[in-house]
Amino acid sequence: MISVSGLQGSALSLFVAAIARRRRALFIAERSQIDRFYEEIRSIEKRTVLIDEERTWFEPCSILITAPEFVSRPIQVLTQRSFRIDQFIDPEDLLKLLIATGYRREDVVEEEMEFAVRGGVIDLYPPDGQPIRIELFGDKIVSLRNFNAQTQRSVGEIEKCAVRLSAGDEPAILQDLIDKTTLVISDRVHRIGRDNILLAPGGDVRYDLKPAPAYFGDLGKLKSDLFKKEHKYHFLLPYAGLEKRLKSVIGEIEYSVLALREGFVDAKHDTIYLTEYDIFGTATRKKRTYQGLFIDDLLGLKENDYVVHYEHGIGRFRKLTTIDLEDRRIECLQIDYAGTDKLFLPIERINLLERYVGTGIEPRLSRLGGELWLRVKQRVKKSTERLALDLLRLYSIRSQQQGHAYGPDANEMEALKASFAYEETPDQLKAIQDAFRDMESKRPAERLICGDVGYGKTEIALRLAFKAALEGKQTMIMCPTTLLAFQHYNTFVKRLKTFPVRVEMVSRFRSRKELSGILAEIRKGSIDIVIGTHRLLQPDVQFKDLGLMIIDEEQRFGVAQKEKIKNLKPGIDIFYLTATPIPRTLYMALTGLKSISNIHTPPPGRKDVVTRVIYYDQEEIRRIIKFEVERGGQIFFVHNRIQTIENVRRNLTRLLPEIRICLLHGRTRESLTEKRIIEFIDGKYDLLLSTAIIESGIDMPRVNTIIVDEAHNFGLGDLHQLRGRVGRGDEQAYAYFVVGSPEKLTPDAHQRLGALLSYTSLGSGFRLAMRDMEIRGVGSILGREQSGQINTIGYYSYVKMLGESISELRGQKTAPEPVIDLKTDAFFPDKYIPSAYERTALYKRLMNTGSQFELEQIKDEIEDRFGKFSAPVRNLLWLSAIRLKARELGADEVVRKGQQVYFYEQGKTIHQQPKPDFKT
Ligand code: ADP
Repeated sequence: MISVSGLQGSALSLFVAAIARRRRALFIAERSQIDRFYEEIRSIEKRTVLIDEERTWFEPCSILITAPEFVSRPIQVLTQRSFRIDQFIDPEDLLKLLIATGYRREDVVEEEMEFAVRGGVIDLYPPDGQPIRIELFGDKIVSLRNFNAQTQRSVGEIEKCAVRLSAGDEPAILQDLIDKTTLVISDRVHRIGRDNILLAPGGDVRYDLKPAPAYFGDLGKLKSDLFKKEHKYHFLLPYAGLEKRLKSVIGEIEYSVLALREGFVDAKHDTIYLTEYDIFGTATRKKRTYQGLFIDDLLGLKENDYVVHYEHGIGRFRKLTTIDLEDRRIECLQIDYAGTDKLFLPIERINLLERYVGTGIEPRLSRLGGELWLRVKQRVKKSTERLALDLLRLYSIRSQQQGHAYGPDANEMEALKASFAYEETPDQLKAIQDAFRDMESKRPAERLICGDVGYGKTEIALRLAFKAALEGKQTMIMCPTTLLAFQHYNTFVKRLKTFPVRVEMVSRFRSRKELSGILAEIRKGSIDIVIGTHRLLQPDVQFKDLGLMIIDEEQRFGVAQKEKIKNLKPGIDIFYLTATPIPRTLYMALTGLKSISNIHTPPPGRKDVVTRVIYYDQEEIRRIIKFEVERGGQIFFVHNRIQTIENVRRNLTRLLPEIRICLLHGRTRESLTEKRIIEFIDGKYDLLLSTAIIESGIDMPRVNTIIVDEAHNFGLGDLHQLRGRVGRGDEQAYAYFVVGSPEKLTPDAHQRLGALLSYTSLGSGFRLAMRDMEIRGVGSILGREQSGQINTIGYYSYVKMLGESISELRGQKTAPEPVIDLKTDAFFPDKYIPSAYERTALYKRLMNTGSQFELEQIKDEIEDRFGKFSAPVRNLLWLSAIRLKARELGADEVVRKGQQVYFYEQGKTIHQQPKPDFKT
């Protein structure tokens, strides 16, 4: 045994990787540290395997990383199984193996360790690999492809692939699997392996390493230190592109591409190793490519969903059902209306139907053939016409006003860009670019920038304010709360530290004396960027030369405040930031009238929050909290009842005496709440116990676990929101929804919980809830009156009417929805697409396509995901092509007679074409 001292953190990762060049190594570290070591070491040596409770596999490799508690645990032995084209396999056998390995069967594969079976297609998503699609004909593999889990589309053919699958044997103990040649590295002696390296003070081998200096964004200082040439510098960067960005600011550097967290100083060789974290104070997360997909496209109808038929009104979707006519079979949606009325809607008319989405109120069922629905529609139509007119009027007024036209980007902008610790997401770049173009035009800008919390809107605001400051214009940033203002203020100060731009805050965190000083300087023009709450609207705030206004979360300001904002100064540029995402349909209706930038994608590598529903168990909760605190994180504990929250605190204190708890609830004084939250952000507490009052806009990257007590009392939407408060930092985040024991739940809560549990990883349920919430937020973008209208007829019908009103005012015609009769079987057989939910979603997409191109894409996707077309599927695709053509021509009816298809407009034939011959 050899002992080694003086190694810590990332230096230890380097050491382990270096050792493993010569011999296989087993590295045993603290449980809270192993994820981090795994990521670091794997960036050096690919063949590194982590053994923890989620991934318990074992296979030939160079380095094994685990924690003491897993050393004597049974683990599963996996072996590589390869698959190639033309190989014969037993599909049943493969499915059994997948289950034995721990894969879960799903309708759609979205996450690692899931698989799905549809006819002859098997989808599976191996951990640390790309999703694979295996297409079989009988027992023979006829095609192998990788696919994208978000779009569900293939991304390329492959010849062969390998998947780690259970070897089918009994589990083994790690101890027994380690052979004599494996070197064991640990800070204590384990009875395992023959050769050990002990990490202990005063070792046989001593390293003399010190922590690296932290620059945390101050690139000026780094540059001057480099320039002095007193030491050698070596940079450890997570990706090569970073070197380019650094070079433009600090000159040539020596570097290696390694994802290490902390740098160190090697005194013996007089070399300073610096990581991205040392330079910027933040680190890029694991790179992953994101492809934003509109959720509208993913959703079908569930049984009992409320639906709106444009002509018949609100009903309830019961099921998909087939009806046999004389010459063919048609698939219909059965919709129940008030009383015993039923409507059977053929699927080719599905685009007259939308899921009803309102703002949370249960809708009233319409009566088939009733007058009421018509009247409701007329009323709404009047309102959308008014709104469209207002929008157009505003648009033309704005285009006549004169404002300041900014010049193109100055060099300083490049420097600010380079000092950003991350690469901007494409959406961020596009938003910045569009907003810059707005500022450079003479027309005063008014743009809405939408993106979910944590999607990086602050950086956009920063660039805009900076651009204004470079031309001597002042910027005012208005936030809905003191806390948010404080947070933005801190970010701005930190980012702009090395630039000659002055930032100040006007809020009640400032004393009266400070405030009057600041106000005087705003008047003189010596402060460039002023951040604050609606306090900024008071008459004593006078700018010397206000050029730009940025309003965060506009919907949270009152009507009077909004009026004031609009009238503040004509001709200035205004940008609104909002976390209420705009659904695509509304976005399309409004573009052209309102400038909108949508940020669909989170910064790269943001990991999904791991979500679990657990029964109340003190020991489990203790373990969860301890785990988070030991890895240096913080916890939100939500308990939504003021009467019992004090008991919960006592309980937690007894359970975990060493944890520092901060208690907040709805009756805590506002100023005290703010103070406590700032202290919490500063790290003075480990756990924030509160009712559900914590604002969602606040960035707390160190909070990576949220525990929601009595989760069954919350709606899905609320849970989604609560979960969204964690997972904004580099670490894997966790959400635990705690429910009482099964016996205690009310039937209703049981049902909700069932819904929660039945969606694996809660993905689809949340997606629905999230979309409903988006739509609920629409009212705040459009206004209160619109919100009411949306409730009466549902969101989609509303947007449809709004779109029509806008088109009419602009003198464009809207094509009618044609009635088509091709006298042929056209549907997805349920063997082909077994899930009715998926079928409705695809019918919907097929009947909604607006272009040939889009139709081709859906066709490819269907063939890709479900395999070869049979006759009814081919007919269905033909039908949707005919529909497209009819809309293009403005036909209102299409009928097949024999081998010819006739297109009519008001009874007149406007086009005819032969029925295609599918046999060729
Ligand atoms: P928002 O204002 O949209 O709620 P923030 O601007 O507060 O979001 O961003 C959330 C976090 O993400 C911040 O810590 C920010 O530094 C980080 N961030 C922003 N843009 C990127 C990016 N392109 N890549 C990685 N992280 C980013």
